[in-house]
Amino acid sequence: MIIVAGLVLAFVLMLIFSRPDMRLCRWRKNRDAGQWRCAYCGAVWEGLEQPNRCLRRKSDGTEK
Ligand SMILES: [Zn+2]
Repeated sequence: MIIVAGLVLAFVLMLIFSRPDMRLCRWRKNRDAGQWRCAYCGAVWEGLEQPNRCLRRKSDGTEK
């Protein structure tokens, strides 16, 4: 059973890390401001939970 559980876990991790939106995104909780900030693109997310994708695409056209 341990092997099966390991395979399932590896499959889930592969699904998560294979998503292009999350590849370069690393959210970090800013406790003082009560918001999440992406360490790579600088996107800010004002939510209780960590976003499941990168918000970089929204600001691509405006800042370049
Ligand atoms: Zn990001």
